[in-house]
Amino acid sequence: MEIKCIGSGSKGNAYLVNDGHSTLLIECGVQFKKIQQACGFKTNKILACLITHEHKDHCLCVKEILKRGIQVVCTKGTAFALGIESHPYVLTVKYGHVYSFGNLTAIAFETQHDAIEPCGFMIDDMSDYISTLDNKRIPKQRLIYLTDSYYCRYRFKYVTDIMIECNYDDISLINSDDNLSLRKRVLKSHMSLENCIEFLKLNDLSKVDCIHLIHLSDRNSDEERMKRKVAEATGKRVVVF
Ligand SMILES: [Zn+2]
Ligand SMILES: [Zn+2]
Repeated sequence: MEIKCIGSGSKGNAYLVNDGHSTLLIECGVQFKKIQQACGFKTNKILACLITHEHKDHCLCVKEILKRGIQVVCTKGTAFALGIESHPYVLTVKYGHVYSFGNLTAIAFETQHDAIEPCGFMIDDMSDYISTLDNKRIPKQRLIYLTDSYYCRYRFKYVTDIMIECNYDDISLINSDDNLSLRKRVLKSHMSLENCIEFLKLNDLSKVDCIHLIHLSDRNSDEERMKRKVAEATGKRVVVF
């Protein structure tokens, strides 16, 4: 899948995902004009905007998105926290259910974060799939989007693309200037380099070409070290957004 980063980190997250046919926006935590620029002012091509939770860095321009008639997809808890639960363009999703957007399907899964009902997304391209002997359809492209979660209890198969938070590393956090309560919050809400590597190792990455690290902390991360450590642990190409 083609993945374009518009913004990543606590200053604002937004990504465009395209399988060659359908375009989805994941998060809208940046100024709307940045999204317009990123898609060449063709926001009408965006089938939906998937939002993981109600923190500003993931949904800054949600009202603008709705005003433009773009469907917003999030859990009921997130919609409620954003005050958009009864808006006609909002689709509230349940963990584990499948929703279609053009050729793409999305399933929300639970994440561990200090928000009301946060989620990650598994996005499959169903325009092309392999049928197994027992008639199961395996997508040729599957993207896992996991952010703002201090760990993930789920394991995924058939993954081809992965975007995963790698927020801080232990050394940077110990040496951080942040006060104790801020550091404690990070431990229970964001993904460390160590947990990120553990998660990656527990999943079948044989079809993954490149790992995208997202949502790095401005203060508590060492980008080069993270990149190197993840590449060493997985043997994959690593890109930091
Ligand atoms: Zn965030
Ligand atoms: Zn958050």
